[in-house]
Amino acid sequence: MEAKVRLYVEQPLGTGQAVAVGPEQANYLFAVMRLAVGAPVLLFNGRDGEWLAHVADAGKRRGALICAAQTRALQPLPDVWLLFSPVRKERTHFIVEKAVELGVARLMPVSTRFTQSERWRHDKHLAHVVEAAEQCGATVVPELCEVQPLAQVLKGWPEGRALIWADEALAGQSGTRESSALTDITGAPAAILVGPEGGFSEEEKALLRSLPYVRPISLGPRILRAETAVVAAVALWQAAAGDWR
Ligand code: SAM
Repeated sequence: MEAKVRLYVEQPLGTGQAVAVGPEQANYLFAVMRLAVGAPVLLFNGRDGEWLAHVADAGKRRGALICAAQTRALQPLPDVWLLFSPVRKERTHFIVEKAVELGVARLMPVSTRFTQSERWRHDKHLAHVVEAAEQCGATVVPELCEVQPLAQVLKGWPEGRALIWADEALAGQSGTRESSALTDITGAPAAILVGPEGGFSEEEKALLRSLPYVRPISLGPRILRAETAVVAAVALWQAAAGDWR
């Protein structure tokens, strides 16, 4: 029988290891997905790879799974971060989901001069991160940071990490040295910065241009929506320097 469910858990995984299931997961596994004793489930915890387990106890509010065998080794995420400005709710959900599917190690929401969004619902976005990792077959759940001001993030920028800035001012300037910066980046660590719907302010642009670790890039001749720009930029980086190669 093929496993219908893939679940992120925090407990250790190994041959014969029992994994206790709490009320929320029990409801999902045994009420929503209707898994019975003996049903297969795939588990991962971000440390031990992916494991096939079977339901050993399927109660209303709790249950137990027993690990049988490892199905995949741990596949670490490429060392790239995504800095993005939260946009409207469903579009932020899209950004979070796609970034996890495309493969980033850390999602960093940043507030900028023109960031226009509702309250950042960290718990909801974290649930979307876990859900996306479960769905896409990742063996590690990316880290999700709380929102921080862009200027503060830039102030504490770690040495040796390039910041690839999707700069709409370069739209259409293909062939320029800046627009090909991505192909110069042969490896991690890196980060990608995409702005809000209103773009970056003049002060933010001046600050970004003044920083030695910032590499401005073009994402082609058309102005993309913020969420499209995230997908395009991460895909370009993955193809040039990430784990798609
Ligand atoms: N209203 C802004 C303007 O025209 O100045 C457009 C902002 S765009 C909707 C949102 C973000 O996507 C930008 O801040 C930038 O990071 C990225 N972006 C969109 N199209 C781009 C392009 N062709 N090249 C580089 N970055 C782009």
